[in-house]
Order: sequence, then C-alpha cells, then structure tokens
Amino acid sequence: MSTIAAQHVGAPRTFEGARVVVMGLGNFGGGAGVARWLAQQGASVLLTDVQPEEALRASLAPLADYLAQGRITTALGGHNVADFTTCDMVVANPAVPKPWDNRYLRAARAAGIPITTEIRLVTERLPSRERVIGITGSAGKSTTTAMISHMLARLGERVHTGGNIGGSLLNAVSDVSPADWVVLELSSAMLHWLGEGAGWEGAPGWSPAIGVLTNLSPNHGDWHGTHEHYSESKINLFRYGCARAVLGPAVEASLAERVRGMVNWTAAADEAFTHEVGTRAALRIPGAHNIVNAATACLAVAAASQAENPRAAGAALAPLLADFAGLPHRLECVGRVRGVTYYNDSKSTTPESCLLAARAFAGTPGLEKVHLIAGGYDKKSDLSPVGALAPLLAGLYTIGATGADIARAARGAGGEPHECETLARALACIADRAAPGDVVLLSPACASWDQFTNYEQRGAALRDWVRAAGAEEAGS
Ligand code: ADP
Repeated sequence: MSTIAAQHVGAPRTFEGARVVVMGLGNFGGGAGVARWLAQQGASVLLTDVQPEEALRASLAPLADYLAQGRITTALGGHNVADFTTCDMVVANPAVPKPWDNRYLRAARAAGIPITTEIRLVTERLPSRERVIGITGSAGKSTTTAMISHMLARLGERVHTGGNIGGSLLNAVSDVSPADWVVLELSSAMLHWLGEGAGWEGAPGWSPAIGVLTNLSPNHGDWHGTHEHYSESKINLFRYGCARAVLGPAVEASLAERVRGMVNWTAAADEAFTHEVGTRAALRIPGAHNIVNAATACLAVAAASQAENPRAAGAALAPLLADFAGLPHRLECVGRVRGVTYYNDSKSTTPESCLLAARAFAGTPGLEKVHLIAGGYDKKSDLSPVGALAPLLAGLYTIGATGADIARAARGAGGEPHECETLARALACIADRAAPGDVVLLSPACASWDQFTNYEQRGAALRDWVRAAGAEEAGS
C-alpha cells in the first residue's frame, strides 16, 4: 500500500509532494475544483480526460494559472494506463460509469493505488458527521436539499450546501465549524464511492448523521448495470452509522423496512403530513411534487433539531418555505410585477421538460393563465408538442432559431402564437397582454446557444428584466 493509502486509514493526511491523477474534468466544475484544491495542498496533479482539449476549453479556463505554472499537467483525448499505476492516488470523477469495470481504475487498484472521489475528500475533512444532512433519491434531490438549507438558514444557522447540487465544498471545508450545518446532495454514484471498501481495501464506509431518501425508482442503469446495484448504493446513505433517517412518501414499504433495520430513528412523510405541509407552506414554486419535497424537507429539519414529535415540529416549520424561490433556472420564481408572477425555467432545453413545466401550472392557476415563452437553438427535436399547447394557454410567445417552427405547429393546432424572435420582445408583448393573477413562464424547450452563451445567461436576462420592471417581490 502506498503512503497516501496508509495515511487514509487514519489522520493526518497531507498531499505535499504527492502525485495525484484526477480522472475526468467534466463540464460542471467538479474536476477543476478538486484539481485546484489538490495543487493548493502541494500535490503535483495530472488531469486526464477522454475528451480532447478543444471540447474542454471552458472547464480548463479556470485552471489557466496553475497549468501555466506546471502545478497541474494534462493528458487529454484519452487516458494512459501507466499514469494510473505510477501515482500515489487517483481521484475519479463520479460520472465514470461502472468504475469497477473501468480498465484504468482496475489497473490502479491492482497496483495498490488508492482511488478516491471529491465527495470522500470532503467528508474526511468535515469536523464530524453529527451536523451533516445527506439527501438522495431518484428525483427531487436538489430541490429538497435547497429547501433544507433554506429553512436552516431562516432558523439562523450557518449552512454549507454541496455535493451533487454543484460546485465543490473542498475549498470551503476548512471554514466549516463544528456548530455549522452541512447539507449534501448525494447521487447514487457518490454513495457508491462512499461505501466500505470502495476505492481501496479497507476504505471505511461513510454515512451522514441524518439521511434523507426522497424516493427510489429505476434509474442510471448505464452507470450501475443493475437496479439492485443502484438501490444498494443509495442505501449506503444509512448503512454506516446514520442516526436519523427521513423517508419521502413514495418510498416503498419494503425499502422503508430495510432502512428501519439500519437506523434506530426514522420518520416518514405520509400523505396526511404532506397535505398539512402544503397548506401551511404557501409555496411559491408550482407542482404537487414540490409539496412532497417540502414535506420531506420539513421532516429532515425536524430530525436535525432532534424534535420529540417530528410531525408537529415539521409542520410548524413549513411557513419557513413561503419565500423559497426554487432552484435557479428550474421553475424558479423570479418575482411579481403588477400581480403577474414570472418563472424562470431556462434549464428546460427539451420539449419534455417544457411540457412538464407547463403541466405544473395546470391545476393552479390553470394553463389558461400561463404565458409561455419558448424557442431557441435548433437541436432538431420535435417541437410540435410545445406548439400544440398554444390553444390551452393565455399566450404562446416564440423566440430564437426554432421560433418559426413552434409557431407553425401552434397554428396547425388551432392556436394564435405571437412570433417575437427575442426574449425582450416577448416580455414587452406579454406586459401589454397579461392580467393580474397570470403567470409568465420562460421554459424554452431548446438550448440557448442561438442567442445566449448558456441557459444561465438566458435565465439571468429574464431575472434582470423583472427587476428592471419593478418587481414587488424578487426571487432570492
Ligand atoms: P434531482 O436533483 O433528483 O434531479 P430536482 O429537485 O432537480 O431533482 O428535480 C428535477 C425534476 O424531477 C423536477 O423538475 C421534477 O420534474 C422532478 N421531481 C422533483 N421532485 C420530485 C418528486 N418528489 N417526485 C417526483 N418527481 C420529482
């Protein structure tokens, strides 16, 4: 076993002078964050990715200084087995599917090189697991995570949010004090890597003090191979010393039973509790699934406060969610102008996600009050289902390269679309037409690259417009 592996069995651990291979840069900042942090710890870092440099420009840009100084070197456009067998440690990107079958990771393991992940590096450096809440599930992870963090912050707690929700907590971990709360969204892949023996012989398993499972349905078959591997990875959340477990209403009885076998204290959000939270929370974000997420989040915060009666305590916490604006760019409520509420769903880049967003308003206030802005970069998807919504809506406003196609489909379905070409023109057109109680929904069903750098910039354009129009209530 190499020195780093030996160090990992117990503290202290230092990377000074260590040769570390970071496998997988990715496009979401995780790989770059860990590479930078390791270099700051004194490691000499080799960053390797199957994609060529041209495809990774945006992810490499934040590392330009370290690359120029030679503190980080790269092997792009493919991996070399020798890199994996001659280093002191490998940090694998959790996106690498079936890592136990991966030829490079297998070679590292056979050579006795420990393999870790960004999330294990984070958990190893937290003051303790006692004030850590981990959230997993097939759907609703990010929303539930954000709701829990929001409520804890409203209660005056200092909160650090990380894991799968984006970014890296590694740079913040030295700032986490034992009194702070850490809220981690954990994907099934991350939980696999947090399992006992994952990465090296004798690697300890890790669970947070409070584990939250929103639901579990077949997912990520490509990564795990089987549903059993997926669900067993998810259950790692509870397996290694979790003190309190919170389950969403959709968690099956047999699975709940297994969790009860691992954790002494469990609480489940049932239908009655969900209904009560829905009544008390007055959520700004639409959709019945978000009431479910709110109920699960309320129980989790009640569990965190060690409430004797978690249902009563959880229901009492629900009003803290009244000003929860939602996740950025995902049905995010960005404000109200003259009684009209604006939602930013710029992350919707497929027809399916646009239909889902529209459906969230079907019950309340009703589709006939929704002004939908759709269109963007042409990915050659079939956008006719988006056009077909037109007769049901208060208005359909088309923008971008696919605008004309969507408008044609809308007319074919008997609708009268407004062809606006740009977001600014669509918003001006809606401002003339919308009545108090109406909803404006930017859910483009298309990528943003025809008129914007990315979906974040497109969503920010809506947010800025709403602010400039004098929003009575801005999103957070
Ligand atoms: P995740 O982080 O697990 O992907 P998000 O909170 O980002 O989940 O929500 C992603 C999408 O999943 C939502 O837009 C919605 O369509 C769906 N969703 C969210 N919460 C739930 C839930 N509790 N049950 C079923 N579907 C949900």
